[in-house]
Amino acid sequence: MNRDRLEKLAADERFIPGIYNYCDRWCERCPQTLHCLNFSLLEEKFSDPETRDIRNEAFWRKLSETLQEALDLLREAGKKWGIDLETLDSGSDTESMRANDKAAEKHVLCRAAKSYSKMVEDWFRERESLFFEAATVANDGVNLEEAFEVIRWYQYFIAAKVMRAVRGKMEEEVERCDEFVSDSDGSAKIALIAIDRSIGAWAVFPHYSNLYAERILEIISFLDRLRQAVEETFPKARSFIRPGFDRIDV
Ligand code: SF4
Repeated sequence: MNRDRLEKLAADERFIPGIYNYCDRWCERCPQTLHCLNFSLLEEKFSDPETRDIRNEAFWRKLSETLQEALDLLREAGKKWGIDLETLDSGSDTESMRANDKAAEKHVLCRAAKSYSKMVEDWFRERESLFFEAATVANDGVNLEEAFEVIRWYQYFIAAKVMRAVRGKMEEEVERCDEFVSDSDGSAKIALIAIDRSIGAWAVFPHYSNLYAERILEIISFLDRLRQAVEETFPKARSFIRPGFDRIDV
């Protein structure tokens, strides 16, 4: 894609600014692809079926071209606004970012979210095929494969977003500026949505079989406690308005 095309797309009013900042990155299931610049860029880039596959070498080559284009645009924008991007990431900033990362990793929420990722991994490794064999057709037509897919999609996403929220909160506590919406609340909100959906997906299992019912209940209960802890740590997260996804009631 050439620069003119990129700039033209960026100026298109159908795109909602920042819509991709607090989404779950599940473009296949996203109801707002029409309004997402990120999605349009990828669609244009990978419209050839051969290059759509993430495992295709061309994907990664094209992805690095996109990165280069973005960096060029960023540098030019920096010059225009008199910002030297090379000096922005000073040694002390990097050090404090590393310190925040370490502190966030030790945070109880991050450790719990990470434990959940492992719980899912263990469950699927040890029980998925046996559960599938034991599963019967659910009366209400709930799709087991879709439930698996939802759990797998959010398995690591929850930990990543909780970590981002916790780290963001640490930074915001130092540089607090009330004029801006809080990124940490936005990250916590999408983590909460992912937790809600994962709980819903786990709750589909008993519709198919009672096998491993106790373990499934334990996992749901763990997620529910994680949800409550995230809500307590980020009391404004649920009311955070995600561009393009949450309605503003006036
Ligand atoms: S907003 Fe939707 S289409 Fe855009 S990146 Fe997020 S999930 Fe994908």
